Order: sequence, then C-alpha cells, then structure tokens
Amino acid sequence: SYPLDVESIREDFPILDRKVGGDANAPGEGPDDDVPLVYLDNAATSQTPKRVVESLVDYYYGYNANVHRGIHHLSQEASVAYEEAHDRVAEFVGASGGREEIVFTKNTTEAENLVANSWGLEALGPGDSVVLTEMEHHASLVTWQQTAKKTGAEVRYIPVDDDGRLDMDRAAELIDDSTEMVSAVHVSNTLGTVNPVAELADLAHEQDAFVFVDAAQSVPNRPVDVEAIDADFFAFSAHKMCGPTGVGALYGKRHLLEEMEPHLYGGGHVRKVTFEDATWEELPWKFEAGTPNIADGIAFAEAIDYLDEIGMERVRRHEELLAEYAYDRLAEFDDIEIYGPPAGADRGGLVSFNLDGVHSHDLSTILSERGVAVRAGDHCTQPLHDKLGVPASTRASFYLYNTREEIDALVEGVDEARELFA
Ligand code: PMP
Repeated sequence: SYPLDVESIREDFPILDRKVGGDANAPGEGPDDDVPLVYLDNAATSQTPKRVVESLVDYYYGYNANVHRGIHHLSQEASVAYEEAHDRVAEFVGASGGREEIVFTKNTTEAENLVANSWGLEALGPGDSVVLTEMEHHASLVTWQQTAKKTGAEVRYIPVDDDGRLDMDRAAELIDDSTEMVSAVHVSNTLGTVNPVAELADLAHEQDAFVFVDAAQSVPNRPVDVEAIDADFFAFSAHKMCGPTGVGALYGKRHLLEEMEPHLYGGGHVRKVTFEDATWEELPWKFEAGTPNIADGIAFAEAIDYLDEIGMERVRRHEELLAEYAYDRLAEFDDIEIYGPPAGADRGGLVSFNLDGVHSHDLSTILSERGVAVRAGDHCTQPLHDKLGVPASTRASFYLYNTREEIDALVEGVDEARELFA
C-alpha cells in the first residue's frame, strides 16, 4: 500500500491551499493570486502543520515566562516544557544520554560554529587536518575553512565522483594521523547523495579524530540514529522538519560536551560567578547562555511528535517515490542535466538539474508564474557547482505533503520554459 495518506496530511498545512501569483511584493493579496501553490522548496524550509503553530499560540497565550526555573508557576511550566523538548529531540535521533547531549542552537549553522569555536580553536593547530567533503554546505565548509585559517590547520576535501558519490578510497587516504575532525554532510542538499557517514566515522575514529555530521537534510526525511552512526557531533534545524525557524539542535557525545568551553557567555548558564571567574551550569545549559528560544524549542518537540506519529520510515519511502518519479520524468529530456546519483540509488527527496540554455533563475521565474516554488542558485554549495562546471542549478525538493501531480506541474513548467527560450 502507498506509504502516506497525503490528502489528509495536506489538511494539516493550511498554506498548501493558498494561491499565488500577481505581485510578489503583496503576498496573499489581490485578484492576481490565481494559481495554486506547488511548494517544492522543502530543502530550504518546510511548511508548518497547524499543531506546531498551535503549540506556539498555547505557549504565548498560556505560559509565556522565562525559563531557568523561576519560582513562579509560569516559569516552572515553561522550564519543564523547554527542558523536556530537549529530551524529545534526543529520543528522536537515538541519543540515549537525553537532554544532556542536546544543545538547542539557532540552526545547523550555529551548531557548526559552536563546535568549530569551542572545540576547534582549542584543539586545532599547524600540522593538523580537518577533512570535509566536496559536497559540504557552506555552513560546514566556510566554518571549518575559517577555523583552519585561524589555527593553521589544513583543510582536505574528499572528492565527489561523476555519479555524485564520495570517493571512499580517497577518504581512507585523506583521513590520516594528522586528522582531528571529519565533517560530512549526511544527505547532500544539492545532489541528494546519502553519504556513508558511519563508515566515515569509523575512518575518523581509527585515527583518533572526531566526526561531525551535518544532518540538516537527513533528520527531516529519514529515520536516523546518532549512536548507530557513532557520530561525535550531529546537527540539524527545526525549520526543515515541520518546526519553526530560529531553533536547531547540536547533539554531542556527553564526554565531549563536558570537556568543551561555552561559545557564548552571559546569564543563565553559570553556576558561580565572582569578580575573577565563573563556573558553568550542567549540560546542556552550559551552552545556552542568555534567554533561549523557549517557544520555538517547545514547538520543535511538537514537530517531532507530528513526524513520529506519521513515521519517519514512511516519510522516507514517500519522498523516495516522489524523487524517483521526478528523476524519471526529467530524465526523459535530452536537454536536461540532472546532478547526483542515478535514479534508483538511495537518494534524498530532491532533484537538482539544469535545462540547456536556460539559466536556473529564468527557469524558476517561469515556474513561479505557474505557482511552482523551486530553488535556483548554488544552494550554498558554490565549490561543488564549480566542480560540476555550472554556476547554478534548479532544485525541486519534496516533503510528506507533496504529490505526483505537483511534479507533473513542475515538468509542464519546464516544458513551457523550453518553448519560450527555444
Ligand atoms: N546543511 C545542509 C545540508 C543544509 O541543507 C542546510 C540548509 N540549507 C544547512 C546546513 C544550514 O541550515 P540552517 O540554514 O538552518 O543553518
């Protein structure tokens, strides 16, 4: 049977009923809003189901207060909900240490920066290497590049082959006794490649190096288990998984987080402060200085409940079927180049491509006129696009509420662009 009841899932997302068109500067207004929205930009951000929005409303209407266990009722309620949200995130990714291994950050980017600053600036120096992949998102690539510049460490890149996969033989050579950190994207946001991160973790650990997994495109779309991967650090963002913007999570092995210094200083994360020095709160609060993003953190847990009830294996399967369908339909045309592993491979739910002779910005403008929202550009993987030999690509990315008919609308829009630019 088909993995998901998409029709009923779509009812959870009011935005999917809206129409678009007309003046893009006046959203939701005017008679020109005339075509149904076809939202295929989920790798950039996902839409938000009612119950997640309602959890934000419940918080602000019902128990809005600062956390850190104030004495009064509301603060107690907010503290408990916020702390339990960390446990819920931990459980979802298989972190048996619970909240102590989950730091709430602003997003994946902040999680990368937290580790690069707290761990990297201390641990790295001349003669050390950080090994990345050529398909890293800028969140990881730029962060480790700059940390390496500051510390004198070297950055090495595991090459991507013509099929969009990592050259694991080269990986085994590049990860050597100089290596202190391997940072790899789990599912590529451009190629859709699912990387063998458990294997990379083994290679790293054989050299006493750590592994940081950028899970921004895996946690939203498939079941994951940080302990099965044996990741040392693992990061993702709520806004790509039915949650709100402004909150994400860093998983770190407890003993590593314990050894690291905070990356931010201030109130709320300290135990004892004197005019000379300070000591830190227990994990994870040590890394959450200042008033945290309470409402969104609580809504993050609600998003996880939502996804969990549907079932991540079914979400994965649904996306896989959509991605296969999109790949096959686009691959019918000789003038379309699709990037990443071939159809049928274990692929994330997205397809990036170019139409011969049409810039992705023009293509996406034509698609937008038909209500089809895709991403055009370099998807924060400029060096990878350089390697592909193109400045940009068009990316259609799918989620649990997308349908085959929406992919048909995409293909029709591409047909129109081909005729217009012929
Ligand atoms: N890594 C990958 C693979 C991503 O797709 C993204 C989001 N485009 C990020 C990192 C950064 O996520 P955020 O913008 O939420 O920090």
